[in-house]
Amino acid sequence: MASELHETIFTAKQERHKNLFLNYRNLNIFPVELLKDEGLQFLERLYMKRNSLTTLPENLAQKLPNLIELYLHSNNIAIIPQAIGNLVKLQSLDLSDNALQVICPEIGRLRSLRHLRLANNQLKFLPQELGDLKELETLDVSMNLLRTLPERLAQCLSLQCLTADRNRLHCIPRQLCLLPDLNELSMAANCLTSLPLDSQKFLSPFLLPNSLLDLLQCPLGHCHRCSQPMFTIVYPKLFPLRETALAGVHRRTTVSFVAYCCSSQCLQMFDLQS
Ligand SMILES: [Zn+2]
Repeated sequence: MASELHETIFTAKQERHKNLFLNYRNLNIFPVELLKDEGLQFLERLYMKRNSLTTLPENLAQKLPNLIELYLHSNNIAIIPQAIGNLVKLQSLDLSDNALQVICPEIGRLRSLRHLRLANNQLKFLPQELGDLKELETLDVSMNLLRTLPERLAQCLSLQCLTADRNRLHCIPRQLCLLPDLNELSMAANCLTSLPLDSQKFLSPFLLPNSLLDLLQCPLGHCHRCSQPMFTIVYPKLFPLRETALAGVHRRTTVSFVAYCCSSQCLQMFDLQS
């Protein structure tokens, strides 16, 4: 096993691989071969999910300076070194399913970071420095022990998707609702006692179309009589199923068939038999 690992890393080094897959290797320490000599200067993506790592090396950025994506989910990592902040090219960091209790403020130095996944750890709070991540698009902090979200998160102006399900959150920071690109906000299974519904900015993208004309793009259905698209009020008309063409495939004829009409006029004129 050890020699196979050695060989994989040796080949990656020799052939200047950009991607290295070390998933499911039963590793409990970071392989020294990755950190020896000049390291792997060409490596951009490192996949190390489902191992037993407990920490990350201090010199990671020095030896793997061109990392863009680092996948470490399902390990046992309890602490990440401050030096993580030196991975200046990192765009995607996945530390889901680990044993993290604290995230160091240096995470805020990962200025290229676009996707940060910290789900299923033991985090009780997040550093305010997350607000320095101006490129951050995805943040997943679900399944932790968070009672609050950092206020400065509202400075992540690129944030599109924030998932914070299954924590202990009591409120949604009002400022978050003002983020211009936020189109997915999930906070299921928390202790929320109120929603910032008075914020107009919050209401417009989530509940209402920008213009009533947009409603014309999504009719509720079409009138059974005249085939006009229907947008608001519909008039239901019930027929016993046996009077319809579906009766043959459906033995339980007690079921009814519902036809919807656009107006009371169409309703009166609509007859299945005609
Ligand atoms: Zn009609």
